[in-house]
Amino acid sequence: MSTPCAISEQSGSLGVMWKTVSEDCNLACQYCYYSNCKGNPGHQLNRIPSSLLETFIHQYMSRAHGNASFAWQGGEPLLAGKDFFKEVIALQTKHAVPPVNISNSLQTNGTLIDKEWAHFFKSYHFLVGVSLDGPQDLHDSRRVTASGQGSFKRVMRGIRHLQAADVDFNILTVIHDDNVRQAKAIMDFYVRENFQFIQFIPCMDFRAQQPDQPGKYLITAEQYGEFLCEAFDAWYNEGHPRVSVRFFDTMLSVYLLGEAELCTHRHSCPKTLILEQNGDAYPCDFYLSSDFKIGNIGVDSLDDILNNRLFGDFLSLKPKLPSSCITCPYLKLCHGGCPRNRQWTSREDDPGVDYFCQSYKMIFHYAHERIVHLAEQIVQRLRQEGPTSPKSRMKPWIPLCASSITDHENVWGGEPLTNPFQRNCRT
Ligand code: SF4
Ligand code: SF4
Repeated sequence: MSTPCAISEQSGSLGVMWKTVSEDCNLACQYCYYSNCKGNPGHQLNRIPSSLLETFIHQYMSRAHGNASFAWQGGEPLLAGKDFFKEVIALQTKHAVPPVNISNSLQTNGTLIDKEWAHFFKSYHFLVGVSLDGPQDLHDSRRVTASGQGSFKRVMRGIRHLQAADVDFNILTVIHDDNVRQAKAIMDFYVRENFQFIQFIPCMDFRAQQPDQPGKYLITAEQYGEFLCEAFDAWYNEGHPRVSVRFFDTMLSVYLLGEAELCTHRHSCPKTLILEQNGDAYPCDFYLSSDFKIGNIGVDSLDDILNNRLFGDFLSLKPKLPSSCITCPYLKLCHGGCPRNRQWTSREDDPGVDYFCQSYKMIFHYAHERIVHLAEQIVQRLRQEGPTSPKSRMKPWIPLCASSITDHENVWGGEPLTNPFQRNCRT
């Protein structure tokens, strides 16, 4: 399963997401729109060739300007094996131009994680995203092996290894027609399991390789909106959130910092590089078609790829807002959602709104007062503690927001809290 936004923009630096083994995967999740191998990757893996790995890492590291951010995806990237990732680390070290902060993240179905993998991740500070769709009955309804067996027990075994080795990990949950009415059960389960970082993505049944085809969705916008509202209640926990949920963190960061962390709700799509295993380069995981191919890292220079006209064409999609977004009171929170979810076929100069527009309106309206309350509490607490206090760097209440806030000057500048509704309201 591909995901949007696996790479966060870091101080304007370029993030890279690389499809480590192309479509090869050892699971056959029923909603997957990327892999075609149906859980049987075969013996001959489509792994990134060593020569390509070094060519790119060398070029990329030489222009990293302080931050080099790699996200490894699949298929199932762990199929590439431990030696592959050891080679990655060796090449990153070899070609690093200090001072540089190198970060590696990886999105996995979790079934192959063992003790050795967990120690490797810990040793090299990998951030690991594990795909899990809730408690066993919900997860096993869709995330299955080639023979149709549920994968829950294997995923949880992998997570136990991560927990035992104290690896930073988050949970990615796809919301589909079997779990969309179960927000509370999912949140309760995650809190019980002490999962600290959670992300939900609504199931989209389209092939990223065919962005000209409209998406098909397994849930309605209203269902997803109801899911988010129910999850918000569980997350808010009477004003004392215990875990980080990316969508709600993103809302908070708009109120506190004026900018969302999730690409869907940023002003513009981040400039990131999505690489296929064979080196083909694209601007987004949802646009893996020849219409948006911006080069190949084995053939073209990184500068040529980044300056490709198609990259500009892609980046121009998001700001072409539908007319209903332009007058929407939630525009500063939403920024029109994701262009891949808009209906471009209607009118080129006025595309339809994001399929999940109604979901966004529901949750923005529902959560507004409580998000403001939390934001005010955070600002108050951080002002009392001061930006340099070790406590303020640890947990205003959740680590994700703490790091965003203490890194940002706005909160410390004595500015009043920004209210995205009031700033934008034109009605
Ligand atoms: S098109 Fe833009 S908003 Fe949508 S997933 Fe890609 S980067 Fe994110
Ligand atoms: S909530 Fe809907 S209308 Fe408002 S900005 Fe988002 S997609 Fe556009």
